[in-house]
Amino acid sequence: MTSRRDFLQKAGLSTLAVSLPFTDALSAMNLEREDKVLRVAIMGLGSYGTRVAEAMKDCKRAKLVGVISGTPSKIETWKQKYGIPAKNCYTYENYHQIKDNPDIDAVYVITPNSLHKPHSIGVAKAGKHVICEKPMALNAEEGREMVAACKAAGVHLLVGYRMHFEAKTLEVVRRQRAGEFGKTLFFQGLSGFMIGDPTQWRLNRELAGGGSMMDIGVYSINGARYMLGEEPIWVTAQEVKTDPVKFKQGVDETITFQMGFPSGAVASCLSTYSMNNLDKFFLNGTKGFAEMQPSTGYGPIQARTNQGPIEAQHITHQTTQMDEMAALILDGKKPLIPVDGEEGLKDLVIIDAIYEAARTGARISLI
Ligand code: NDP
Repeated sequence: MTSRRDFLQKAGLSTLAVSLPFTDALSAMNLEREDKVLRVAIMGLGSYGTRVAEAMKDCKRAKLVGVISGTPSKIETWKQKYGIPAKNCYTYENYHQIKDNPDIDAVYVITPNSLHKPHSIGVAKAGKHVICEKPMALNAEEGREMVAACKAAGVHLLVGYRMHFEAKTLEVVRRQRAGEFGKTLFFQGLSGFMIGDPTQWRLNRELAGGGSMMDIGVYSINGARYMLGEEPIWVTAQEVKTDPVKFKQGVDETITFQMGFPSGAVASCLSTYSMNNLDKFFLNGTKGFAEMQPSTGYGPIQARTNQGPIEAQHITHQTTQMDEMAALILDGKKPLIPVDGEEGLKDLVIIDAIYEAARTGARISLI
């Protein structure tokens, strides 16, 4: 990372700074702070890891500097493509050595779901900040272990909730918090797509920890919480399976679920791997409504309220996410909607309850 001296020298300010008035010296320091960049290694160079790497090309506060991969050919390609030095390349066997690498601040874990816990804990033990993809873990028990491990290691644990930084989402949330929709009593979340290749890890219970709920249903759970601004106190759920060959035992195809909130608000949601065109949030209040469709895809997100459309420039979600996460880690900036391990854990507690509700038919209390 650029040291203060390097920075001042580069900016031609080294001799100037000492003779600058206090306010100018302060602005030179602010410039230095702007120059502070989060240096990130990506673990798992798959489809989403590649999307994040591409998005990071436009980041101002975060930089891709390393990789952790089980595929040597990918490491070679990424070295060339992103200018990654050999000393910042690791495998799953030796990535613990990252603790001796002062050029890496954080690791972004983008491996299959069941590997999030061991990989995140391994990264934390190596003394690096953890950014982990959703779902943060397979269940709440694992999530708690991750939160504890990162706390013990004194590192941040953040979850890749890119929507928490998306402009139209934030505007709807701001209006909801300001009471512009009145008392919000209903949320609908529809999250689904038709999944292809039956051999992929997303349909393997060992690696995915479940089915559509772990992958896409989590968006409706998370969305209900940030759109209503409350935590649910109970859930009910119903599972439907039309293809038990493709969706084996423990791999949910379609689940409808409902959540109840302390204010009396209810959420009604659908999570599925068997239907397309399901990426929609609807929030209804006593004075107005907000509708987002698409609501969580890669965008551009479309949002409108009873007052009309919400306009905001589309910026690649992962670019904003990584810049904001850098500010969170480096400057202690607080996001409007949290993205820390506790936030990820809240969704895992609800996922556990939804699976239990679907299995037992009971209404599961969350308090
Ligand atoms: P991919 O299958 O495309 O990539 C996963 C990568 O993980 C592989 O390419 C591989 O990289 C590595 N890996 C390590 N062990 C295994 C294993 N046993 N089986 C398969 N891959 C392994 O998956 P995605 O990139 O689509 O998803 C990865 C994670 O990102 C998931 O948790 C998913 O939920 C999340 N995700 C989040 C999105 C978002 O919008 N926030 C969108 C899409 C996914 P290598 O060869 O380098 O070791």
